[in-house]
Amino acid sequence: NTFESLGIDNPILLKNLKDRLKVTKPTKIQKLAIPKILSKNDLKKQQKTHENGTKKKNLFIHAQTGSGKTLSFLLPLLNTILSLNEDADGNTGSSKLNRNSGCFALIITPTRELASQIYTVLNTITVHYLVPCLLIGGEKKKSEKARLRKGVNFIIGTPGRILDHLTNTRSLKNNQLASLKYCILDEGDKLMELGFEDTLKQIFEIINQEVTNINYQMILCSATKSDNVGKLGDELLKSYYTVSS
Ligand code: AMP
Repeated sequence: NTFESLGIDNPILLKNLKDRLKVTKPTKIQKLAIPKILSKNDLKKQQKTHENGTKKKNLFIHAQTGSGKTLSFLLPLLNTILSLNEDADGNTGSSKLNRNSGCFALIITPTRELASQIYTVLNTITVHYLVPCLLIGGEKKKSEKARLRKGVNFIIGTPGRILDHLTNTRSLKNNQLASLKYCILDEGDKLMELGFEDTLKQIFEIINQEVTNINYQMILCSATKSDNVGKLGDELLKSYYTVSS
């Protein structure tokens, strides 16, 4: 009943989880989702199976807000992404990711508030070990663009602004999306309710042209299992496992 026993082994994450977030024991959805995401996110293994033509495996996390759903996907993603970096002695996970090593994850949320909340949690548990970027519309397009051009490892944003950077400013397009490993659609029910279906389809059309590693994994989160969410899952994730809290 610990995060270590679920496979989270990065010392920075474990320390910040305890010291900064005061989180010590995993919730039910974290116990279900973390091992599932980690087992599918062994990147070295994944690259091997991809060469052998194995299908990608996606996940639907069915969980209420307040159940600990954010950490249920953030922790395994970060554990894997931070382990991509090796220091001079060959140790992984405890050195800073180079901002030019590529963008590994894209989290899409229906609202600016949710994107900002996830960004705050991410910064709290990773501190300066990777370079995140928040893309949420409003006045900050110029600074978002500049940050993307400098190189980022992790993007969190809302659909319209992400599409804008992919198409109009093209700053995201030039930004090593080829390294993408994970795409998260958070609050899928709300994404559909707010009418983002077409925007999401356009985003993934562009990403799928850019991304050479077609084996990136998609995780859809939703508090409900409505027909709308089912449709989103079928359209964008195709085949997937489900875990419910
Ligand atoms: P979420 O469901 O992701 O919106 O999380 C709701 C709240 O629960 C947040 O304030 C988290 O910091 C907190 N939380 C997440 N996981 C745990 C945990 N394992 N133990 C205690 N609190 C947690």
